[in-house]
Amino acid sequence: MQITHIFHSGFFVETEQADFLFDWWKGTLPARTGHRKPFYVFVSHSHGDHYNPDIFGMDADAWLLSWDMKPLIDERFPDLKDRRRLFFLRPHQSLMSDAFASSEASQASILQNALGMSQGSLAPSTLFSVYTLASNDRGVAFVVRTPEGSLYHAGDLNNWWWDGDADDQRLAHFYHDELSRIKGTHFAAAMIPYDLRLKEPGYGIRDFLRYCSTDAIYPMHENADLASVKHVFANDPLMKGVQNVYF
Ligand SMILES: [Zn+2]
Repeated sequence: MQITHIFHSGFFVETEQADFLFDWWKGTLPARTGHRKPFYVFVSHSHGDHYNPDIFGMDADAWLLSWDMKPLIDERFPDLKDRRRLFFLRPHQSLMSDAFASSEASQASILQNALGMSQGSLAPSTLFSVYTLASNDRGVAFVVRTPEGSLYHAGDLNNWWWDGDADDQRLAHFYHDELSRIKGTHFAAAMIPYDLRLKEPGYGIRDFLRYCSTDAIYPMHENADLASVKHVFANDPLMKGVQNVYF
């Protein structure tokens, strides 16, 4: 599994069997190498810093979009060609792919509704499964399971600790309730906001690690230049003991 942080909350993830793009807004996409693999584009919510309209012109097999993208698409992109390949996900919804169906004419048929988050090892024919959490900002967070490991992309689900007032505390409770739904899950990589506008930018990652474990953390949504994030992150006492942080 090869993960590239493109910009802000945008990531490209390449696996043996399929490629995934998350929340691409700006920045150069890595070249896709080798034979053409199934390609899936994810958008966690409709805020302008989480998607670029160019995604709809991409040669993707399916677009997995937060439910709040639906009215936006109806209004701004009414002429999108193959709407059967657009999937609008509500919180706590899951979809499962089937690689055996991927050569069929209707790529959309490779995604089926599943019940809850998939557990145990994936069937060999499964390219990926996705499960959504509700966001306390807008849209959803994604849990994507692949045969090479699981990915977490928070979107804008976070512990938004601006100054610790009642509203921040309410958002923190919401975040913890959502994390409790994936408690005990081990991830290959977790992409989580580390937003330097916050008084406590590290709380989102700290809380995540109380519920889940991960081989790698990718701080995102930094709203500052990456060099300054690295410095602040390295000196954040909350991050002591976190291995494999990637910028
Ligand atoms: Zn955002």
